[in-house]
Amino acid sequence: MFDLTSKVALVTGGSRGIGRATVEALAEQGAHVVFTYSVAAGEAEAVVAGVRARGGTAEAAQLDVRDTTASEGLIAEVAKRLGRLDVLVANAGIARDGLWVQMKDEALDETLAVNVRGALACARAALRPMMKARRGRIIFVSSVVGEMGNAGQTAYAASKAALLGAAKALAREYAKRNVTVNAVTPGFVDTDMTRDLPQPVKDAMLGAVPLGRTATAREIAAPIAFLASDEAAYVTGAVLRINGGMLT
Ligand code: NAD
Repeated sequence: MFDLTSKVALVTGGSRGIGRATVEALAEQGAHVVFTYSVAAGEAEAVVAGVRARGGTAEAAQLDVRDTTASEGLIAEVAKRLGRLDVLVANAGIARDGLWVQMKDEALDETLAVNVRGALACARAALRPMMKARRGRIIFVSSVVGEMGNAGQTAYAASKAALLGAAKALAREYAKRNVTVNAVTPGFVDTDMTRDLPQPVKDAMLGAVPLGRTATAREIAAPIAFLASDEAAYVTGAVLRINGGMLT
C-alpha cells in the first residue's frame, strides 16, 4: 500500500520540519523527490544524503516561493527533465504573529505572498504536466489555525484558510483531469516554527490537545504520503485534520 515507486514528487520548503519529514516519507515509499529550500543549502544537502543513505533518491533546489516566475520555471524544468510530475506538496510557509491592531501591512503581505500566492503559483505550474498526464496529486499544508482561528495569528489564519478554499476549488476544477487536490491541517507540531514559542503559550496550546502532546513532523508526513498515493484516488477536496483532537 502507498507505494510511490517511479513517481516524481516536489515538496516546497523540504529542508526542515514538516517538509523534511515529507521528503523522507515520500522517498521511503519509492518516489524520486525534488524539494526546495530557501537559504540553508547545508541543511538541504544533509536531507539529500540522508535519503540516499536509506536507499532513496532526492535532489534539492533553491527557491523563494515569493518569486512565482522562479517557481514556475523550476516546476516546468523538473517535469521536462524527469518526464513527469506526480505529486506537489505545497508546504513552504511562514507565521508573522502579533496583535492585529499592531500588525503592519508588510507582515500581512509577506504572509500572503509566501503562504497563499507562493503555494497557488506552484499548484498552477504543477497542474500543467499533471493535466497532460491525466493524473496528479496536489496537497496543501494548511493549519488547524485556518479552520478555528487563533488570537495573535490573524494574518496566518487568513492565509491558511485561503488554502482550504483554493484546495476545494481546484479539486472541482481538475477532477475531470484525474488530478486530486487536498489540504492537511496540522495542529501543534514540534518544529522550528513552534519550538521557540514562549512556554506559557505552549502550555496553553497543549492544554487544548486531547492527546496531550505535540505531533512529530513524521506524524504529519505519513498522512501526506497517503494522500500522494494511488490508494487515495477517490479523496479530493478534502481537509485532513491531523491535530490530536484539538478540533473535531
Ligand atoms: P519550518 O519553519 O520548519 O518550515 C517552513 C519551511 O518553509 C522551511 O523549509 C522554510 O525554508 C520554507 N519557507 C519559508 N519561507 C519560504 C519562502 N519564501 N520560499 C520558500 N520556502 C520558504 O516550519 P514547519 O512547522 O515545518 O512548517 C511547515 C508548514 O506546516 C508551514 O506551511 C506551516 O505553516 C505548516 N504548519 C506548521 C505547524 C506547526 O505546528 N509547526 C502547524 C500547522 C501547519
